[in-house]
Amino acid sequence: NLSRRLTAVASYIPKSSILADIGSDHAYLPIYAVENGLAKAAIAGEVADGPFSAAKSSVTAVNLQNVIEVRKGDGLAVIHDSDQIECITIAGMGGALIASILSAGKDKLTFAKRLILQPNVAAHFVRNWLVDNDWELITEQILEEDGHIYEILVADRGEGKKPYAQMEKELFFGPFLLKEKNPIFRKKWAREKKEWERIYKQLEKAEATEAIREKKQELLRNIQWYKEELSDET
Ligand code: SAM
Repeated sequence: NLSRRLTAVASYIPKSSILADIGSDHAYLPIYAVENGLAKAAIAGEVADGPFSAAKSSVTAVNLQNVIEVRKGDGLAVIHDSDQIECITIAGMGGALIASILSAGKDKLTFAKRLILQPNVAAHFVRNWLVDNDWELITEQILEEDGHIYEILVADRGEGKKPYAQMEKELFFGPFLLKEKNPIFRKKWAREKKEWERIYKQLEKAEATEAIREKKQELLRNIQWYKEELSDET
């Protein structure tokens, strides 16, 4: 049974897509996508030996070798123009890593119309990359599973539209998530705020170097944003 997190990621794959799942590990996502008609063909990309072998075994076990090709390589390097990949999923990594994979593989996005990205942390790196590279965020989802809170970002190739009024803050929280402010979103940021305050207190005790001053500024800004958007007291 596919996790709720990956099922949610898969739900944004347009029906019958040609899919690339990057950092596929056991290839659970492309297998599910093919078995459910979301993908008509898929590539499972993996950079590491163990997960690469695991992906190969899973695909063979369900006898889908003709439809899902497991390739070894770094990020989008496993994609070739001749694959005509339409949809790319990258799930279960940090936001900074996802953004760097996309940056390094920009020329692999020729046929891509949709990106579904699920950063475990620091989603704002991914949103910033999308805005800077003319991808339009079309929806976001936040969900909790086994005590972890996950965000899913769905983007379509845009025409450089930048639809967010307060860019920085919206890209930090996520424009769709910020509008909705559902209980999981509130829980996530309440946790984060506690952490920011804890770190701030620690830094108060540290020597005030330039880097520390900058970090403290950033934490204060985050706490301020939290108060503006999520504090119950007025
Ligand atoms: N996508 C699956 C999921 O969401 O359950 C697996 C997530 S797993 C935590 C992250 C996987 O990404 C690992 O198997 C790792 O080897 C792979 N990975 C990390 N960096 C990568 C890169 N640059 N290119 C391809 N795969 C990468």
